[in-house]
Order: sequence, then C-alpha cells, then structure tokens
Amino acid sequence: MQDRIDRAQLPPGVLKLSRKLASAGYEAWIVGGCIRDLLLGRAASDWDVATNATPTQVQRCFRRVVPTGIQHGTVTVLDGSESYEVTTFRGEESYSDGRRPDRVHFVDQIDADLARRDYTVNAIAYDPVHDRFADPFDGRRDLLQKTLRTVGIPAERFGEDGLRILRGARFCATLDFELESETEAAFEGALANFRRVSRERVRDEWLKAMKSNKPSKAFEVMRRTGILEITLPELLDQCGCEQNRHHAFDVWTHTMRTLDLCDASPTERMAALLHDIGKPQTRARSEKTGDWTFHNHESIGAQMADRWLRDYRFSSDERAQIVHLVRHHLICYTPEWSDAAVRRFLQRVGPTHIEPLLRLARADVLAKGRPVDQELDALQELRLRIEQERSANSALNVQDLAINGKDVMRALGSRGGPEVGRALRFLLDCVVERPELNEREDLLRTLTSADPSRFGLK
Ligand code: ATP
Ligand code: MG
Repeated sequence: MQDRIDRAQLPPGVLKLSRKLASAGYEAWIVGGCIRDLLLGRAASDWDVATNATPTQVQRCFRRVVPTGIQHGTVTVLDGSESYEVTTFRGEESYSDGRRPDRVHFVDQIDADLARRDYTVNAIAYDPVHDRFADPFDGRRDLLQKTLRTVGIPAERFGEDGLRILRGARFCATLDFELESETEAAFEGALANFRRVSRERVRDEWLKAMKSNKPSKAFEVMRRTGILEITLPELLDQCGCEQNRHHAFDVWTHTMRTLDLCDASPTERMAALLHDIGKPQTRARSEKTGDWTFHNHESIGAQMADRWLRDYRFSSDERAQIVHLVRHHLICYTPEWSDAAVRRFLQRVGPTHIEPLLRLARADVLAKGRPVDQELDALQELRLRIEQERSANSALNVQDLAINGKDVMRALGSRGGPEVGRALRFLLDCVVERPELNEREDLLRTLTSADPSRFGLK
C-alpha cells in the first residue's frame, strides 16, 4: 500500500476540475473507491469528487455539466470524452425504510460527508490541489491491515441501509480483505433489513464479486453470516453434501473451487456458481456400486438456475447463457466418440457456447481435488476434434444445408407448413451423420426417398 498520492497518478481531467473549483474558492476532494484503489495500487475507475460548492455553484464553474442526480447533490462534469461526478458534501441521513435516505442535506465539512459512508476504507478523501488527505476514521490504517470496518457503530450503519452487509461481503473478495470482528458480528442483526434490499441491487453486487480473483471469499462470508440463506438457500444444501469417489470435496467446496478456477466473465462465473445447484436434491446411492449418483442434476439445476436468475432480474441474455452452460456442463466425452458424435455435441451446445463450456468444464474437473490428468487430456482432445470439425465447415444448423425451404417445398409438393421444418431438420441430422451428403442433388434424393410420414405427410 502507498501512503502518498502522486498527482501524476490522477487523470489530468480530475486535477483540472479540482483546480477550477479551488480557484473559484471551493474545496475539491477526490473520494471513495478511487482513492481506496489508488492507495492499494489497483486500477481506479469512477473518479468521484466531493465539494462544498452547491450543485448550482458547480454548474456555474463549468461549461458542460449534466444534472445527473441533482436531488442527491450530484452533477456530472464533462471534459472531452471523460466525465466526472461532482457531489456536494452530504451529511448523515435518516433512513426510515432501511434502503434509501428520506431526504438529503448538505454540510460544509468533508469530515461530515465522510461520516455517512459505509466502510472506513471508502471514507478517505484526497485534496489534489493542496496535496492533503481527510481520513477521520483511519481508513488508511485499515487499508494497511486489509480490514473492512464500518464507519461508526456497525449495527447503526447497517440499520440505515441493508445493502451495506452485502457490499461488505463483496469487498472481502474484491479487495481481499477480512471483516473486522465487530463489523462481522453485526451482520446477523442486519439481515431483516437486508431482506428489504431490491433484487437488482443484490444482482449487481454478485456480479461485481464475480470480477474478483477469488469470488468464493464473498460467498464464504455470505454463507457464514446468513446472507446466502436469504438470497440462494439452495446453495447451502451443498454444504456437507458428499460426492462420489472421484471427488475429494463436498458439493459446496467443489463449487467454490470451480468458481475461483473459472477465471472468466461474470456470466461464466455465475454458471460456475450454479453448475451443481441441482446436486443435493438429485443425490442417490447407486444400487450397483453403492457410490453417490446425481442423475439429471444438470437439467434440474438448469431449471433451478433459470427460476432464480429470473427472480434476481438478470438480463435475458445473461440468463440464457448461464442456464445453457448449467444444462450442458456435464460432458461425458470419451475417445470412442465418433466424428458424428463430436458434431452432434457441437450442434447441441452451439458453436458460440463451446469455448465458455470448455472453460467451465476444465474448472469443474480441476476442482475435484483428485488427480485429473486423464480428464484434462480428454477435454483437450475434445477441443481439438471440435476445431477440426469447425475448420471442415461441418453443417451445424439448417442454414448450412445445400438446399433451403423453397427447395424442400418443391420436392415435397408442399405449400409450406411444419413439414418443411421437419424435413430440413431430418436432412440436417443426416448431414451431421454424413457430411459428404451436403450436396444439392444428394439432399434432394435423400428427401424424396425418405418416408413422407416422417415429416407429418401422408
Ligand atoms: P466500486 O466502485 O469498486 O464498486 P465503491 O466504493 O467506489 O466501489 P460505489 O458504489 O462506486 O462504491 O460508491 C462510491 C462511494 O460512495 C463509496 O466508496 C462509499 O464511500 C459511498 N457509498 C456507496 N454506497 C454506499 C452505501 N450503500 N452506504 C454508504 N456509503 C456508500
Ligand atoms: Mg466506485
């Protein structure tokens, strides 16, 4: 951690903006996550400036200003392609709903503004014009000790805004910090308040946690403190859920390891989190071997994931991708697969999902905690065989066929209807089986020699 800030580390626009406010007689403090991240030596984004100037006074200082959140005292100052949020010092607020302040009031001192912030490490401000810090809650000490501690009494601060405990869990992962013990002890009392937080805000925090190196850290905090019981209790059923002899860990630990190993986009990480959600309820002993089985856990899991992702307002694209990965995550590849089997797999999963699926499968295998060299080799072999099929331009959907719907209608004497789609899919199945059939004449011959009842024709 660094204890000074070099002006060269700041975007020139922020410095310019601060100087402008200072020359008009106001204070300008860079504050919040960007200062925390800068001191930690991490890439900072979202440069937020706090000032004692009112929004109207700020507007007078700059040419291009957008009143983005004027009711909260925030305006956005535009500078070329950059933009910065400038917020008037705000004081502690009363929260009767545990979510949003009833009303906002402005204060004159930066320290009073810092007092309303959630964690000490988020309550450090830096004045770049005079090169000075405002750090009334010793945030820099906590940064050094990698400790997450609330500003003021934890129970009171969590009582104001139930989201803060989830932010705390998320920061444990993104900053790789530990909760200070009194702060953690107050999580339990804040759960009732946390229940009132909107699901969109919960979703956003989960997705932010997924961007860290070790998201499991956030989920372990959530499990320990009761947050998970409220948000996704089905995951808790994984704790102590023992698996078959190929696994060293219970489903929960395996899931946490998969999550950390699947170092990809937040969406893929969500799939890693949810991939075995169907396991606890599908677990049964095999009569033959006496070992645990989890038949159909991937499709039960996909249904569970779909419901939950809908509830938590994930976008339909995100939901579709995550559910698809959960549904197909169990790849039972063996070298005995024929080329046609590889093509059927590619067709079933869809070319755009192959890479994410193989990444998830690799993490899933590595997370077993047993020697897995053979399984990794098999996945690598599958990857190569898929590449071969792709470079051979194998037909994977009906658009890739050498004939189209019109040709089919003509050949069948049809005026259009469900039989056309059925016939095209039949031809695709034939071509996936035997790619050399994908020639116009061959397809037409295959079509006319097939039993028309296959397509629903008499
Ligand atoms: P990141 O941008 O990495 O998610 P951040 O700390 O910058 O983290 P923001 O949501 O951008 O988080 O908020 C900016 C600052 O506003 C925080 O650093 C904190 O000082 C304050 N803040 C944000 N949310 C809350 C909250 N729920 N309660 C109190 N203060 C908050
Ligand atoms: Mg931020």
